[in-house]
Amino acid sequence: MSVIHTYKKRKPSWLRVLCPPGNLSKLVATRCDGCGQWVISCRQEPWESYDPGIIHGTQDLSVAIILGRTLTRIHWIPGLNQASLRDPYGSRGISPDADYLARHECRHTPISMKPFKPPATPRVKKTSWGVKPTASEIREFEKAWNQ
Ligand SMILES: [Zn+2]
Repeated sequence: MSVIHTYKKRKPSWLRVLCPPGNLSKLVATRCDGCGQWVISCRQEPWESYDPGIIHGTQDLSVAIILGRTLTRIHWIPGLNQASLRDPYGSRGISPDADYLARHECRHTPISMKPFKPPATPRVKKTSWGVKPTASEIREFEKAWNQ
């Protein structure tokens, strides 16, 4: 019988962007004590760990909501080049345009392994026709979120 060490992976390089040394949000890239997977540990009381993958867009959010995973929203602070995490309150905090992290649950496969990319020019708002979810799609997962 062979054991596959799925999580014996190298540290995702983008964790350095999200968790720079001395950041104000006290985000630390570390391995989970329980399963050895890389996690983003937020060392503000209470400590929380998040899977190293960005939840973005209607599809990721729907999966996270269906699986009942707790999400936290990434707010990028351009002046500091740092992220702060804020827990959304109900559906108002959930937007398909925002980036989220899902709380780490030991031995559950992360919903996403997408890297985080800080917004390059936060002042320029691009309209992305065809990518934006419709109002009814947003209502759909707001409904799911509230269940
Ligand atoms: Zn774990």
